[in-house]
Amino acid sequence: MIGPFTHDQPAVRIVFGAGTFERLAGELEKRRWLVVHGSSQAAAAGRLRERLGARCAGTFGEVRRHVPVELAERGRTHFAAVGADGLVAVGGGSAIGLAKAIALTARVPIVAVPTTYSGSELTAVHGVTSEGRKRTGRDETVRPRTVVYDPDLTRGLPREIAAPSAMNALAHCVDALWAAAATPVTTLLAVEGAGALREGLDGADHEQLLYGAALGGWTFGVAGGGLHHRICHLLGGAFDLPHAETHSAVLPQVAALNAAAAPDDAARLAAALGAADLARGIFDLARRSGSVTALRDLGLAEERLGEVVDDVAAAAAGNPVPLDGPAARELLARAWAGERP
Ligand code: NAD
Repeated sequence: MIGPFTHDQPAVRIVFGAGTFERLAGELEKRRWLVVHGSSQAAAAGRLRERLGARCAGTFGEVRRHVPVELAERGRTHFAAVGADGLVAVGGGSAIGLAKAIALTARVPIVAVPTTYSGSELTAVHGVTSEGRKRTGRDETVRPRTVVYDPDLTRGLPREIAAPSAMNALAHCVDALWAAAATPVTTLLAVEGAGALREGLDGADHEQLLYGAALGGWTFGVAGGGLHHRICHLLGGAFDLPHAETHSAVLPQVAALNAAAAPDDAARLAAALGAADLARGIFDLARRSGSVTALRDLGLAEERLGEVVDDVAAAAAGNPVPLDGPAARELLARAWAGERP
């Protein structure tokens, strides 16, 4: 049965395909674009700068994970100093996150060229980190207007980055099942996205991976995240953990908690992963892809889990399955040890 729903679809132009980045200059309107790029994308940013000619205000290649507030300030100062009025972000979620921090105050459009599977390119969520806490917000200005998915740029992504990043994309599909703004359409995208990600990981097919990431980002950009994302943000901010790897370790445990709240959708998503049980299907996919399943493998000391237990329990307000302090501690302990659900 399909109940009543409201699906709020933002207007984003999605361009997908090999070679699309090399044609990007032709897509861009007349502005002074600043190209923000990650360290591995310096050559690509340079090519774009050359093609844009006078329409390029320069490149900015200083990118750090979780966008420290000092870096956001330097980026904003640079943007103003070079007289830019548009942003192209080429790189992973960290490069896109920096572009969002600049766009938030400069109120200018972003064109995103993601080179990982982080999904940030399709959301209106921005965030900077200061004093060990990631502060996020939502503003339509920072949602990229055009997103270019070019598998030529992700072809060389090393497996140790690609696998956790794909698990991050899978988290968008999974967490969307119980997100507040989920609709039958976001669930459809989530199931299709999960299947593409599984095919991509199992077959080392980078086009399927990027396609699955696009569907995951699309789902997440409409439905938003749930408990899983709130936990990962807390852990990332408190312990400076790498984003995608944290998702990979936490997701099976949150899926085990929440699957009962959406049993039919969870079963569809599990089937897309080729599994009978969603949480075990996620865990096994992470394992066989060589991704992270235990927070302890990220260098986090077990004693430190206690620092975030109360925040994790508080973050569960509104979650379809209750999570009190002891249950939060148990969930974190399982994610830390990497226990199969
Ligand atoms: P990242 O951008 O830090 O990239 C991870 C690593 O991969 C970096 O070392 C980077 O240099 C390298 N890399 C990127 N593309 C590459 C390529 N094509 N080839 C080789 N190396 C490459 O990490 P991420 O996982 O992409 O993004 C994480 C960040 O994005 C976090 O700060 C997270 O909070 C944010 N994020 C935000 C949203 C949102 O909606 N706002 C959504 C997802 C993630």
